[in-house]
Amino acid sequence: MSNSNLLNSFVCSGDTGNIQFNGVRYMLIRPETICALQKSVEEKLGDASADIFFNSGLTGGKMSTVQYMRLFSLSKKEAAQYMCDMGGQIGWGKFILEEFDVPAEKISIRVLNSAFAAYYGGSEKPVCHFIRGIVAGIALGVFEQPAEVVETLCLSKKDAFCRFETVGKSDGMVR
Ligand SMILES: [Zn+2]
Repeated sequence: MSNSNLLNSFVCSGDTGNIQFNGVRYMLIRPETICALQKSVEEKLGDASADIFFNSGLTGGKMSTVQYMRLFSLSKKEAAQYMCDMGGQIGWGKFILEEFDVPAEKISIRVLNSAFAAYYGGSEKPVCHFIRGIVAGIALGVFEQPAEVVETLCLSKKDAFCRFETVGKSDGMVR
């Protein structure tokens, strides 16, 4: 199947206030809203806030990966590619699957033009915790093991793009 225009399969009904994609509900939200939420939580909780956004991304990323893998009978790699295609088409940034190694349980994804970094502004640390969670959700969905994911490059640190990589093979422990 082609993943080139997934948005054609989104059904938007203003009458019911509902956007559906293959039975899954979606909502559109301005990135500034998410950015304001992230900054407010960071102000209250400091470094602990990264985990909150990571876990939010992880939940959605795992659910979608598992659901679409089953629905479209995708291989593990096809499921990861599908999630990358989806990420780009719903406006999170241009996701490029750079590395996908099943035996090593390794995923590396480059994201150009991250919607999260674009509105966050400059930072000494990576800021795209939602996407980092999504990548961990993809890894959990396809490898069925929790994975640690690090954002090794980030637009907000003045890198040219963001990069998310699983680090080490999971020991199977839920962290
Ligand atoms: Zn980033």
